[in-house]
Amino acid sequence: MTKLSCKSPLVHLNLGPNGHINLCCENRWTIRTHIDEIDDLEEFFNSSVMDYHREEITYKGNIKNLDSCKNCYWNTMKGDETFRSRLEKYHTFPNEANDKKAREYGINVPIRYLEYTLSNICNQKCAMCSSFFSNKWQDLDKELGREVHPLQKLGDDAISKIEKVLYGLDYLEIKGGEPFADIRNFRILKKLAEVNNKCEIKIVSNMHHITPEAMDILKKFPNIKLFASVDGTNKIYDWIRGGNFKKTVDTMEKYYNETGNKVQIGTTISLYNFFNLLDIQNYFEDKEYINNIVFENWCRSTKDGMPDIVGKDIYDKQIKIYKKKLKNFVPKEYENKDTFNFKSNFDKLNIDRGFDITDHVPELKEWYNRKWKT
Ligand code: SF4
Repeated sequence: MTKLSCKSPLVHLNLGPNGHINLCCENRWTIRTHIDEIDDLEEFFNSSVMDYHREEITYKGNIKNLDSCKNCYWNTMKGDETFRSRLEKYHTFPNEANDKKAREYGINVPIRYLEYTLSNICNQKCAMCSSFFSNKWQDLDKELGREVHPLQKLGDDAISKIEKVLYGLDYLEIKGGEPFADIRNFRILKKLAEVNNKCEIKIVSNMHHITPEAMDILKKFPNIKLFASVDGTNKIYDWIRGGNFKKTVDTMEKYYNETGNKVQIGTTISLYNFFNLLDIQNYFEDKEYINNIVFENWCRSTKDGMPDIVGKDIYDKQIKIYKKKLKNFVPKEYENKDTFNFKSNFDKLNIDRGFDITDHVPELKEWYNRKWKT
């Protein structure tokens, strides 16, 4: 049996918009503890609950057999990117050896990598999302008969608990919702600037709008990485994200001009942009304010736009093109999961956006007509 381990429980905690404490972004339902149920995040990180996961996941390398991690195992076996692989590839923990020793002596160690989402407050309504991550989706979720998640946000007490662990972090990752749409993130960043401004900050944002106040706070950190979620250009961007491409481009440029920091673009690959990834690379690759464009995040939901629905032949043909032409592309094997007909989502989104995306993507129109037009 292939053993595979993961260091996430040694260093990391994730907080979802509903206040649940998770092992990582791919492992949301294992620890059924809410931040309001605990007194202190660091104590929780050093508790027997986390010791159990460290034992199984890190030391015994048992991820294949754990319900919570087995997807990660199989995705790793297929060569796909996972939080586990990103942790290995892009992160170093200078205190790793000291922390190990401290644990052996029963001494509490700080959280080294915290990822949190304060709320589902968002200013966009991406086609692959839901009201769980964007409160702007509530009406559409209702119309589609899907679960409608209320506006959910961590309370003041929870924010104080986050502030208490900032001192020991090597990495702080802020997600949303949209981080710049929830101003309480700036309270945390101000505190971080006071206690640990060397911490590397990652912010995953749609970069639709950054206020002058937020821009000033961002300037306080020498080590900050902004990841902009950009899933198309021009009308395709506007349709997929329910936003405005020009406004996003202007914000990225402004951020670069004011802070000197470049932006990394990350694209979620879905049915809706499956034929247009090269447009993104072509548009941004020579822009001074961009340092990298990465195509590694796949929409894997059969209900929300998994591109595999185009069928194996079309899928493989497109992947072949991208393998040749995209610079930072992590392909995904075709998965035969075309079981859910999300035509109604697609049609409702066309109505919501006020135009039909297939008018801008001939390949999508041809496929749509063949598959869904009666
Ligand atoms: S193995 Fe994967 S799912 Fe499990 S904790 Fe590590 S990154 Fe998360």
